Amino acid sequence: MEQAKITYEQLLSEKKELTLQLEEANDTIEAIRTGQVDALIVNNGESHQLYTLKTADQTYRVFIQKMNEGAVTINREGLILYSNSRFANMVKMPLEKTIGLVFNGFIAPSSRQAFESLIDDAWEEDCKDEIELMDADSQLIPCLLSCNTLELDEGVALSLILTDLSILKETENQLRIKNLQLAAAHMATEKLNNELEDIVKDRTNELFLSREHFKYLANNIPQMTWTNLPNGEINYFNQQWYTYTGLGLEETREFGWRGILHPDDVTPTYEKYTTGLQQGEVFEIENRYKRIADDSYRWHLNRAVPLRNEDGEIVYWVGTATDIEDQKKEMEKRDEFIGIASHELKTPLTSLKGYLQLITSYKKENIPPAVTQYINKANNALSKLQLLINDLLDVSKIKAGKMEYEFINVNLTQLIESCVENAQHIYPENTFMNEDGNQYLIKGNAERLEQVLMNLINNAVKYSQENKTVIIKTSLHDDRVRVSVIDFGIGLSEDQKEKIFERFYRVEDKRFMTGGLGMGLYISAGIIQNHKGKIGVDSELGKGASFYFELPLTKIEK
Ligand code: ADP
Repeated sequence: MEQAKITYEQLLSEKKELTLQLEEANDTIEAIRTGQVDALIVNNGESHQLYTLKTADQTYRVFIQKMNEGAVTINREGLILYSNSRFANMVKMPLEKTIGLVFNGFIAPSSRQAFESLIDDAWEEDCKDEIELMDADSQLIPCLLSCNTLELDEGVALSLILTDLSILKETENQLRIKNLQLAAAHMATEKLNNELEDIVKDRTNELFLSREHFKYLANNIPQMTWTNLPNGEINYFNQQWYTYTGLGLEETREFGWRGILHPDDVTPTYEKYTTGLQQGEVFEIENRYKRIADDSYRWHLNRAVPLRNEDGEIVYWVGTATDIEDQKKEMEKRDEFIGIASHELKTPLTSLKGYLQLITSYKKENIPPAVTQYINKANNALSKLQLLINDLLDVSKIKAGKMEYEFINVNLTQLIESCVENAQHIYPENTFMNEDGNQYLIKGNAERLEQVLMNLINNAVKYSQENKTVIIKTSLHDDRVRVSVIDFGIGLSEDQKEKIFERFYRVEDKRFMTGGLGMGLYISAGIIQNHKGKIGVDSELGKGASFYFELPLTKIEK
């Protein structure tokens, strides 16, 4: 117990002693820092050594104290003789504790070797290098260490100035990262740019090829072709155009196709052209263009096709003009031939009919029944042939504009009734509903109008094999009477409707092909036209058809 009490007292007195020494040391440091002391004595364990700051003056110390760099003075043994507060901050240690410590202890292990060789050199000459300090929390601080020898009264010491490079290094690091990011972004941009350039090159090439392709194609077809903007302005003609018309680019621009049109074709072409552009659908027109080579007008079939973009808007029109002069001539020759042939056939046919009649009436009672049957069959065949030849003759006459006949007052209602009776007789299986009530009087040729009506009724029967009802209806349309023949048969498509009134046109559907030659409707249209009337059809494929004609009415009796 006695022993413990002594030790405790001893410890107390030692503590007191040490506290005194610490206070003394703090006072000394404070005195040095504030310039009150120019020298200090350091106990290095064996002896006391006196250090005097050679340039010790207050200004110098205040400056050192305030500066942003760490400042340390070490002796040959590496002991810290002096340090400023900035250094103490850097290593996170109370200032008074740094004095007397070995400076090496603050150097990061990775920098020790470099530090030692730097210090070796520093005693010879001023030098500097980057090293890493390690603070009390073992954090590394990158620093620039500048070493300068200091001539102190008691010998040479080393002044170490430590510039904290943390911010600089961090900034450098950030900069490096930013540079890397920039380089990466640059590379990405360059790559994108290259890709874009490649795409543009490819597209340009494709465009060039497609343009060349188009031009090549356009210049190597026999037709004249051009393109129009949606407003009709023509912006391209192919080579054939220039060769055929002999027009230059400027003249073409100024007049277009109007400059070489046959005078008679200007108005119909212009009308068709303007309505075609407005409707925005494919349209065709036949007209004559003047050929420069021989100053001749040649027939052309013009076709205009709209080209639409993804939104369905017309981007431009493609026009073609195909020379059909030779075909037209061929057609004329054919028509001429048909005209002459049917005319020539008519005479022997009439003789044949006459002879058959003679045979029938000659010694009638002596003719065996089988022969009478043959004569009847021959008569029927001859009648069909006669109808066919008459149709062919009619076609030639209409084509030549020579279909002429007398016009008289005709009771259309009676005419219809007689046709319906006739039809009922020929087609007993069919039902003909005549919904007529009024008496319509018109001016016309009864025989020809009967021909038209019978043709419509024959067709209605021919093209509706399943539903055998045919309705014949009359109605008033302003000052016209309309006669409709309605069936519930195969009907017609839009495309077919446009063509059925053309010469020799027949629907190319093998399922419904009958013996006709496509003349009936052409002749009917010709006859109705002669009567200053109108012929047409309303129909839907598969749902039957309603063929009608309208004639100017002279009187209606109820
Ligand atoms: P065809 O002698 O061939 O009947 P037409 O000139 O009378 O000649 O008719 C022309 C074409 O119109 C026919 O081949 C047929 O395809 C079509 N057609 C005429 N009438 C009708 C109808 N009522 N229903 C359906 N198609 C019809």
